[in-house]
Order: sequence, then structure tokens, then C-alpha cells
Amino acid sequence: MSDLASRVSAFLGALLRVPPTEGAPARGTAARGPTNAAGQALPEYAESDRPPVPLTEVHHPDGRMSRYPPPERWDDWVEWDAKAWPRKVARRYTLVPTICFNCESACGLLAYVDKQTLEVRKFEGNPAHPGSRGRNCAKGPATHNQTYDPERILYPLRRVGERGSGQWKRVTWDEALDDIGARMRASRQQRRDGIVYHVGRPGEDHYVNRCITAWGVDGHNSHTNVCSAAARVGYALWGGSDRPSPDYAHARTILLISSHLETGHYFNPHAQRIIEGKQSGAKLIVLDPRLSNTASRADVWLPTWPGSEPYVLLAVARHLIVRRTYDREFVRRWVNWQQLLAEAPAVPGMPALPVGEGTFEDFERCLEVLYGEFTFERAAAEAQVPVERIEAMAAAVEDAGSRLSAHNWRAASIGNRGGWQVARCLVLLNVLTGSVGTRGGTSLSDWNKIVPKPYKQPPPIEAWNELHLPHEWPLAHFEMSFLLPHFLLEGRGTVDVYFTRVYNPLWTNPDGFMWLQALRDEQKIGLHVALTPTWNETAWLADYVLPMGHAGERHDLMSQETHAGQWIGFRQPVRRVAMERAGQRVEFTHEANPGQVWEEAELWVELSGRMDPDGALGIRQWFESPSRPGQLVSQDEYWAWIFERSVPGLPEAAAAEGLTPLAYMRKYGCFEVRREVYAPYEAPVDAAGAEVDAAGRVRVGGKAVGVMVDGQARVGFETPSRKLELFSGTLAQWGWNERDYVIPWPLPSHVSPAHVDRSKGEMILLPNFRLPTLIHTRSANAKWLYELSHRNPVWMHPEDAARIGVRSGELVTVQTEIGRFTDAVWVTEGIKPGIIAMSHHLGRWRLQEGAGGSPGTSALAELSEDDAGGHQLRIVQGGTAWKTFDPDTSRIWWKDVGVHQNLTHAVHPDPVSGAHCWLQKALDVRRAAAGERHGDVFVDTQRSMEVYREWLSLCRSAVDHSPDGTRRPLWLKRPLKPVPSAYALPRNPFGRAPGGHADDEGTRRSDEREGEQS
Ligand code: SF4
Repeated sequence: MSDLASRVSAFLGALLRVPPTEGAPARGTAARGPTNAAGQALPEYAESDRPPVPLTEVHHPDGRMSRYPPPERWDDWVEWDAKAWPRKVARRYTLVPTICFNCESACGLLAYVDKQTLEVRKFEGNPAHPGSRGRNCAKGPATHNQTYDPERILYPLRRVGERGSGQWKRVTWDEALDDIGARMRASRQQRRDGIVYHVGRPGEDHYVNRCITAWGVDGHNSHTNVCSAAARVGYALWGGSDRPSPDYAHARTILLISSHLETGHYFNPHAQRIIEGKQSGAKLIVLDPRLSNTASRADVWLPTWPGSEPYVLLAVARHLIVRRTYDREFVRRWVNWQQLLAEAPAVPGMPALPVGEGTFEDFERCLEVLYGEFTFERAAAEAQVPVERIEAMAAAVEDAGSRLSAHNWRAASIGNRGGWQVARCLVLLNVLTGSVGTRGGTSLSDWNKIVPKPYKQPPPIEAWNELHLPHEWPLAHFEMSFLLPHFLLEGRGTVDVYFTRVYNPLWTNPDGFMWLQALRDEQKIGLHVALTPTWNETAWLADYVLPMGHAGERHDLMSQETHAGQWIGFRQPVRRVAMERAGQRVEFTHEANPGQVWEEAELWVELSGRMDPDGALGIRQWFESPSRPGQLVSQDEYWAWIFERSVPGLPEAAAAEGLTPLAYMRKYGCFEVRREVYAPYEAPVDAAGAEVDAAGRVRVGGKAVGVMVDGQARVGFETPSRKLELFSGTLAQWGWNERDYVIPWPLPSHVSPAHVDRSKGEMILLPNFRLPTLIHTRSANAKWLYELSHRNPVWMHPEDAARIGVRSGELVTVQTEIGRFTDAVWVTEGIKPGIIAMSHHLGRWRLQEGAGGSPGTSALAELSEDDAGGHQLRIVQGGTAWKTFDPDTSRIWWKDVGVHQNLTHAVHPDPVSGAHCWLQKALDVRRAAAGERHGDVFVDTQRSMEVYREWLSLCRSAVDHSPDGTRRPLWLKRPLKPVPSAYALPRNPFGRAPGGHADDEGTRRSDEREGEQS
């Protein structure tokens, strides 16, 4: 212990040893020995059985955080038992690194496993982790709450009553696996689209996708279209990769359109680098109608009216264009300006463009014509912000040059119809400043991520699931997952086996009562298996509930774009690793986890083995050991193969320490593959034997691998032109061929001023921001997190509060398109007038006392329904204390656990990106009427279907607009890409009269096109 710490300890110890005042005996037990300030006896603990071990100071040469145990001491670390304080009782730990499972940042954690009891005493940061560098947000250490959650699901359960009746029976893993495996086998024998794996945040990088591919079904369904898909479309159309990776720490200007990215969810690794950038003098600009934590630290905060962001961004672009302060050389080399000059004049809605001879100077003149109308004054009027702030923003962007770090995450992109254009307009600023992939600039996520290959990979799927990517949304970036109930109800198909994996769509998605109806219907969803650590509203409607592991209870591999480097992290079941370090043999991870909590990685191997016990379906082979023929692969075998052969530099680093690559990863939990990655698109291509086509693309075997730039073959970007696509030929070819789509341009939002009549009291409900301490259902039972944040009042500007006549704490009822809810108000200037805001995450409920959720973090509710689609949810009991082995559960002091607003949100599928547009038009916001209570929710699901159909009618189907008989551009990513022949348009598209679509022709064309794609 340091001198200072020793002195502080001695001082406090002396203070607490002051005896009670004479004549004033302590309350409770007679005070002997140490007491607290009130003279009460402190709890007694056993004396230490061994002398204290000195703590070790940690100094990292690169300035990383100190005072962490150095890795060479991790196997036998000693700390005083905090509960024995002020006495020094030593505890010995083995420290096992793992990866946080609470968001996709994949920060490193260190589990302190008590060597005597093998209990996990705490989780702290892993200083060896290159992304998080020992730091975490509140959700990382709260993994301990999740591990020891008194309400967690510990054993496999099977439903015994009607679905949703809350009657369960404990079963063995064998019983569950045999039954589920047989149901999967039966489905797979019939069809290739009957099994669905619906994932929330994956928290891993390839393992389950490989399993689904091995099953031979088009079964991947994600949550991404209620999350980040709209922004991803904007990035993908520009550069192929679908997320940005800003180099904040070295930026001169940081520009954020993000409702929560840097405020804690997600990417704490980004937050810490933004602070570093600011400390080095970077300016921070934030566009957000709400004063978020990040906005409160901004040099320039622009509380933009939702949907107006493109006007602001294009005004800054115009500023650079007319002043010729953009990076002309970068634009000349890397933008597909020749394609714009060639194709734009024929685009409907384009002004007359001075394309001239087609030179770069002609293109520059066209840029001025195209964006000349976006003045600062116009942007200020659209965004309803002072023009000076836009001028200040423009000056900071201009000043940044190639050091502009920019990010768009959720926020305006996922809020508005046409939000994908917000991301495109933002990227335009990176392109104009030449800050793409530069030091202090903005890279693409793929450059800062590495996904290693396993020992063998099953071939692509030969199927297309119409429930996931139907013909109406050919450009949807991810599956139309939030519409599954609507699709099922209108008869588009059925599901045989439906896995919800650490995901709660009934509660998280919009229009949750539609999910309630679908999940109840056994004709539509044959078998529902919920893989979850905690009870949730969706699991309540499962046939099996299978207990899944948290961050310290599973194997996974993760890599994330936290900065301009590349690293890989290894999640581990920490108690299992500790047991193995102690010489105990563990066959399956559920032997080491609490109860019979299992990890997915092992579960999928065993389940796949039972799905295809004799190998007749061709599935079992992918789950067999690479070294023990006929036996199922073990986790050690699987990861050892990857670490030995598929992570560059890891075998050498391990050998230098005398370790195997697997032992290295078990010891450190991570590996830095590359410290810096900048501008990989400039890398030369070996053009020997390659062909160069008319568009300058370098082809090998018909496949584009690069592009000629100034006579040199360069790698370029993963787009059809291999350049950054200011002009999107893809949109032009697939039915979105007007000016407003093919180039970065503002699109009218569904909540633009033309659609919201404030004179009638209409407002915008902004529901898509997060509290940095919570993360949907995943954090639901984390007591420390819920003590910090447990309510989600309606943020309202004082002007609106005065108009409505409410004060903070009073109730309002908000009327949406499909229903209404009642919540308390928080009056604050932190939200723009005309907008109300309400956080995600809160408003958990359960229908039964004693099951289905924790009493401290969910409300007991009553649900009543009528025959006309009416659903009424009413809170019977808010949060309350209850008795368990954990004394903290009897100390719950709050009652308000939030209001479940998402139930009242109509679905808004964007016709291009397919993303749900989260912003809701509040038709009325008024004082709650007599009889209306906090937490009341009413929804009319008949109205839900009407709104769904209104948005469906905005689509431009591949059936009408496909340029080549395929249903989707082959070059666009999909989480699991099927074979090219699966891209042929369906023979009988849903909703169309039966008629032949050229399956054969489409198949032939898509096979040909495969060879053309990069
Ligand atoms: S940001 Fe927080 S929740 Fe996300 S991985 Fe890091 S510690 Fe976990």
C-alpha cells in the first residue's frame, strides 16, 4: 500500500476506534472493538490467515492508467477484504480477463475470482486492452450485479400451460436439446426458411453466423433496423463499409450527430478519446435537439429541428465549395465525379449542370450549382438555430482540414424518414476536407476491425427468407425484423423454430402489442425458444427459456473500431478458467457457471449435433473437431485453431512469452493486431495479370480488386466504382433515381414542420436517446445501475409546459398515432420547444407476482384487451423492496421504474433503408385526465396495421424496379450473404398476382454479376 493510502487508512481507523461517549451507550449490540461514528459495533470478520501482500504500482510506458495489477501478478493477486475494513484481511485472487457483454464496444474486464471460494468478487477494467485501456462505463463493473442477480434464470425451463400463462417446469439440458434439436431437424427437412435466430446486440463477431450458415437456413434476424441501419446505409452507399471509425484523439474538430454514442452508450472507448482530443485543443460540435451529456461539453451545440440536419451539413459543404477550401486533390483522386458528370444530367429533378468537357474543373462548377442553394441563412431557418452557430461550425470544419472526426449514430438518421441521407451529408464533409482515413480524421469501421476465420467455413446459404428481406425493400440494409408480426399477420409466412437471443422484441421494438399477438399464435410461430439471462416480456411468451451467460460466463471473440488501430478481444467464462487454473477439469461451461447457466458457443455445438445426429443433413460435419474425427469440437480446439492460424502476429507474441496462442489469449484476453491503420484505400494493388476495365477498375478473374488512380493501381473502396460515391448509381438503378436520392440531399422527414402542426398542439416525441447507465433488458436487473437511473420522465421545454399547464412531476398524457401513455414531466431548457423527449430502457413490466421480472426494477401490471385490437396496460405496483439472499433487495427506495412508451409507437419503415424511423408525431400532449395514472398505456393494434400499410405504400419494390431480375444489389452487404442464385426475384412475390418472374434469368444474371463484384 502506498504511504498516502496507509496514512489515510490509519487516520480513518483511529477515528472509528473512538469509544462511545460515556453515559451514552451505543444502540444495538454492546460496542466492543471498532465502531462506526455513531458508536455502533462494526461487523466482525475472521482474522487473516496469512500476512498481507504488498500492492504493486503499475506504470505503463505509454501513459495508460496506473494502479492496476500488472499481468505477471494476475495469477496470484492479494487485496484486503473491503468488508473487513479497518482490519487487514487478505484475499487471494486469480484475475481472469474477459470482455464486457453490455454493449458492442467490447471493453476489457478483469474478473477477480477468489482462489478460496471461486466466487467472482468484482469486475474491473483490463489495462492490457487496447480499446478500453482499463476504463469502463458504469455498465462494465455492474456485470457483478448481473452475475449475482437474485432473480436470474438459472435452469432450463419448459412451458407447461398455455403460452404466456406463466406456468413453467424445470427440465434438464438434455431434455431441452433433444426436443429443440428434433424440431429444428423437422423444419430443416422441409424448408430453408423455417428457423430464425433473432439477435439483439450480438456481442460476438462470427460464431453464431457460422452456425446458422451450417444449418443451411436463411435464419439470421437482427435488431439493427431499430438501431443503426439508417446511418449504415448512408455510409455503405459512400464507401462500402457501413460505420465510421473516427480518430478522435488526434482530431482538430469533432463533429457528432449522435443521441448517445459518446455519452456512455455506446463506445466508452470513443468517449475517452473525445476527451483526449479536447484536451489537445480539438473543437467539439454536436447536433442534437436535446442537451445530452456530450452536447453539454460542446464548443458549438446546434439544437436542430429533427430532420433539418442535412441543411446544416450542406450549408457547411457549400461554404467549403464556394471558398474553394476543400481538399481538391483528394476529391479529384477519390470521388466518382466522372460518373456524376456522365449520369447526373439525365436524373429527374437535376438543375442544368455545366458538365462541359467532363474535366475536374467542370465537376467543381457542377458542385457549386448543385449545392449553391444551401446558404447559412436557409439552414438556420430550417434547423431553427442561430445562424452564428452554423457559421462557427463551418469555420471549425474548414479549420480541421484532414483532421475532422465525425460520427452519426442513431439520432437524426434513425429518427427521421430519409435519415440515411443525414449520414451521406455528413460524409460529404469528410470527403471535402480529405479527412477519410487520415490521422485525426474518420476511417471506415472495416479498417479498424478484424474478424478471424475458423477452421472450416460452411458454404453460403441457398435460400432467401421472405420474412426478413421482402421484395418491397430491396435496399434494406438489415432484415426488416421489427415488422415480423405485421408480416405474419398478413400471411407472408410462418416460423417453425424462433430463437430470441438476449433480445426482448416485445418490449424493445415499436408496436409491442403486435409482438404479443404474434408470439401467442402457435400457428404462426411453432416453437419459441428464449435464450436469456433474465426474465423479460418476450421470454414470458416462450416455450423454452434457456439460461444464458453474462460477460464472465461465455466464450466469444470480438473486435471493434474503437480507434485507428486493430485489436481482438476474447471473452471467457472466468470461473471455468479459474477452476482450470486450479487444476480442476471442466467439460462444459455450465458446470462452472451459476446454476446451469450455459454459454451459447457450447450450446450451439451440442444442439447442432442433435439436430443432425447421424450427419444425414450435412450439418454435423461443421461442428466436429478438426483433430478428433467424429467427435464434436471443444471450445479449446475451436479457439486454439483460430489463434494459431488466423490472427496475424499473435503466435509470435505468444511464443515470445513461451505461451501457446490460446494460453496468451486466456492470460491477457486481447491482442493488438495493428497499432495504427491509416488510408488503406491508397495501398497499391499488384496489377500483374490484372485487367483494367473502361471505368478504371482493376480486375482479377473478373472480380474488381482495385482502381487506377493517376496511373497507379490502388485498393480503393468496396463500392461498385471502387471510389467514394458522391453519385450513387445503385440508387439510380433501383428506382430511386431522382436528384434527392442519388446525391447527398435533404429528404422531407415524416416529422418535418409541414407534418407537425404546432398551432394545434402537435409535437414531436423524441424517444431515441439513452441513459448512459442502462442498456435495455440487458441491464434490467443490475442493482447499481437501477439505483442510478430508474425513471424516464417526459422532457419538456418551459414554454410548452406553460402552454399545457404542467410543472415538473405532474402527469401528462401523450397521444401517438396508435395509442397513448401517461408519464410524469420534467420541465427543462435542455430540450427544444415543440419537442418532448423520453429515454429508452425503462418501463419494464411483468404480469405475475413472483415471476417474470424483478420487483425492484419492473412494475407489476394488468393487461386487458378487447376484441377490436384495444390493449390497456395499467400499473398495479411500482418498484418495491423484496427479500432475497442479497440484503440490497430489501433496500429498494424507488417506486417509479419508468413508462413503456415503445408500445405506443407506430412502425415507420423507411422506404429506402428499411430502418424504423423512431420519431413519433405526438398528436396531443395534455395534462393527464382524472383517472389516468402514471404508466397507463393504451394501444389499438388495428390502427397499428393501418399505419404499417401507409408506410408500406411508400416502397419501390424490386419487382418493379430491379434492373436485372435480382431482388437486391449483390454488392451490398448482408449479415449472411446467400449464393447469387438466391438473389433471383421470387416467382410469386407477396401481394402480387401470381405470375412468372424470371427466376432462371435472374439466377443467370446474378451468377454473372457475382463475378463482377468486389
Ligand atoms: S462502454 Fe460500457 S457497456 Fe460498453 S463494453 Fe464498455 S464497459 Fe461495457
